[in-house]
Amino acid sequence: MKLADRVNALTPSTTLAITAKAKSLKNEGHDVIGLGAGEPDFNTPSYILDAAKEAMDQGFTKYTASGGTLELKQAIIDKMKSDHALNYTEKEVIVTTGAKHALYTLFQVILNPDDEVIIPAPYWVSYPEQIKLAQGQPVFVNAEEQNNFKITREQLQQAITEKTKAIIINSPSNPTGVMYSKEELEALGEVCLEHGLLIISDEIYEKLIYTQDKHVSIAQLSKDLKEQTIIINGVSKSHAMTGWRIGYAVGNQKIIQAMTNLASHSTSNPTSIAQAAALKAYTDSREQALSEMKAAFTQRLNTTYEWLTAIPGITCVKPKGAFYLFPNVKQAVEMNGFDSVDAWVEALLEEEKVALVPGSGFGSPNNVRLSYATGLDQLEEATKRIQHFVETHQ
Ligand code: PLP
Repeated sequence: MKLADRVNALTPSTTLAITAKAKSLKNEGHDVIGLGAGEPDFNTPSYILDAAKEAMDQGFTKYTASGGTLELKQAIIDKMKSDHALNYTEKEVIVTTGAKHALYTLFQVILNPDDEVIIPAPYWVSYPEQIKLAQGQPVFVNAEEQNNFKITREQLQQAITEKTKAIIINSPSNPTGVMYSKEELEALGEVCLEHGLLIISDEIYEKLIYTQDKHVSIAQLSKDLKEQTIIINGVSKSHAMTGWRIGYAVGNQKIIQAMTNLASHSTSNPTSIAQAAALKAYTDSREQALSEMKAAFTQRLNTTYEWLTAIPGITCVKPKGAFYLFPNVKQAVEMNGFDSVDAWVEALLEEEKVALVPGSGFGSPNNVRLSYATGLDQLEEATKRIQHFVETHQ
């Protein structure tokens, strides 16, 4: 049977091939270290688990409102107010089945065929695919490594056409871990306002920052920017709750209403029990479990960064947040006699049993993504193996 054109146009995930290979090596009994993880390696804190158990025991197992329970929406509104001094009403919030589905639904309701969405590259792999599924056109703007993987006002200006509908800002970023400052966001925001662009601000890594820098949401910079921005967030990364699938979008009421209508015909609602768990996460701020996770990530980032950048031919823009390093390995790849980073990554897996994700899938073919959502001993062993690989292939 012929499949729909829209799925034929999907780009297969570049991580899949390497993950499949890592898995088969593991099954053969090899000691493979996988650094491809896109989720915290910590368990959801137990007080959040208890809230879900209680919800089940109380029979909170039925459909909820499509856009999420009023209680959870209120908790999100309160969070926006306390974290960013942003005021929203319940009609400006939708709870979704993970942040990923918030983005999917958003693109479905805002894009007409050929509408363009600007994506700074390197980017999270799902953005272009979701835009294409909504018949839109992803337009990539290269965030130069020399500029710490951030796009400039001039670059944004040059990428805008009469078809540009929106721009995605993902800060802190997956895969680079870099974060835009208030001033940088102000500069981009001015251009967006000038051209009436919708700003999609993906803030899923907002709570995972390991420097003194404060996360700034572009929506908090002015009343006009707030009106022009849809914030995407969720509990997956902040509370180690990836499997619960709770995310949300806040912003323009008309857009949120359209997303809610679409959700009512697709997901019906995010899982009731998971909503109860997310409510607990937002209303009972027991910082200890979360700060332990953050402390571990901070230590892993700082040590792994040192180990990695000591390897010849590898440089890295130091991330401020998320849980990825995105080193440039071009020089090492050339020194080692490979003609692409993808081939180098494959050989590294075969010979040293370390699985990294090639940067090509993130729109950055000279880099690799390494997740530090794994124990420090594993990270130390992995970097030793990478060093051994680089030094023995010269
Ligand atoms: N946005 C970015 C940048 C991500 O890295 C991810 C998950 O990897 C998501 C959104 C989706 O998060 P969720 O698990 O809530 O769907």
